[in-house]
Amino acid sequence: MTGTHPRLEIRNIVRDFEGKRVVNDVSLAIDPGKVTCLLGPSGCGKSTTLRIIAGVDMQTSGTIHVDGQLVCDTVFRVPPEKRSIGLIFQDFALFPHLTVGDNVGFGLSGSRRDRAPRVGELLERVGLSHYVNEYPHQLSGGEQQRVALARAIAPRPSIMLMDEPFSGLDNRLRDGIRDETLALLKEEGTSVLLVTHEPEEAMRMADEIALMRDGKIVQRGAPYNIYNAPADKAAVAFFSDIN
Ligand code: ADP
Ligand code: MG
Repeated sequence: MTGTHPRLEIRNIVRDFEGKRVVNDVSLAIDPGKVTCLLGPSGCGKSTTLRIIAGVDMQTSGTIHVDGQLVCDTVFRVPPEKRSIGLIFQDFALFPHLTVGDNVGFGLSGSRRDRAPRVGELLERVGLSHYVNEYPHQLSGGEQQRVALARAIAPRPSIMLMDEPFSGLDNRLRDGIRDETLALLKEEGTSVLLVTHEPEEAMRMADEIALMRDGKIVQRGAPYNIYNAPADKAAVAFFSDIN
């Protein structure tokens, strides 16, 4: 059945905070293996949308389906850890008291020995096998980001949500880590909803861009099409950041 459904589908999501409409009727569908970027200026409602999908915030109205299954409407709610959703945020939030290996294995079931093959495979894939018994503080920021990616991808989530995951990284490292992250996600066939305020990042990573402003999606399409034919003057101004 999963093949016939988008990995993630959100319909008519609205979120009001104290009478202020922060997310205003947002609908999106992400097909298997695709990367969609939710792109827009700071404060437009991107993180709120992502938090609602993750299940750590609740929409005022609207529905969320993962693999064709309803995970949330205004009366029914699957808890975050049961949504088959992976999360990566700007601060990597590794568990400081767990080794790198145990961080990567955290979302897997079974004993440490059961989890070892998947942990080993992913650490090797991100080039950090030698750190399996070290602790996060012994790693650089870029290395911690790779561990966070390995941890999030380990349980094979249907959809990966990423909120500005690269903005805390040194400029020098950023392009390399963007490309490595994308390569690993594509290899694993993971579908992605990536939030960013940087047009350049969306152009580099997205199969599809959803341009957001003031709580609404104002344009959707392939990066090339959006870049070449922005919907309105505000979109032109926003994209003019790219050199
Ligand atoms: P973005 O991620 O695009 O920068 P956010 O989703 O973080 O935007 O925020 C969108 C708007 O919602 C902002 O005006 C923000 O102040 C407001 N907002 C976010 N969370 C809350 C909250 N818990 N209570 C009240 N307002 C909030
Ligand atoms: Mg945000």
